[in-house]
Amino acid sequence: MPAITSTSSKNSLADDTVKLLRCPRCQVSLVQRDESLVCLNANCRAAYPISGQIPQLVTDKADQLTDATWLALINRPHAVSSGGANLASGANR
Ligand SMILES: [Zn+2]
Repeated sequence: MPAITSTSSKNSLADDTVKLLRCPRCQVSLVQRDESLVCLNANCRAAYPISGQIPQLVTDKADQLTDATWLALINRPHAVSSGGANLASGANR
């Protein structure tokens, strides 16, 4: 089995956990992309780092993504090998 470059498993949060989180800036939901939690608010576009499975949900540590970066991130499926969940599937919970 080929080793896929995957740093995501270590810092991956459970989907249920991510669903409970809100952007501290605008209270909008977040999605996980790589080792960041990205705000779904197009006017906010904050990205919060995850360090050691602990999301750093403080505005101090937030990155302000550019419009293009933000769009690319939120439109990209969450590539985590375990679970295989994506934003569109909520069927088999
Ligand atoms: Zn936000």
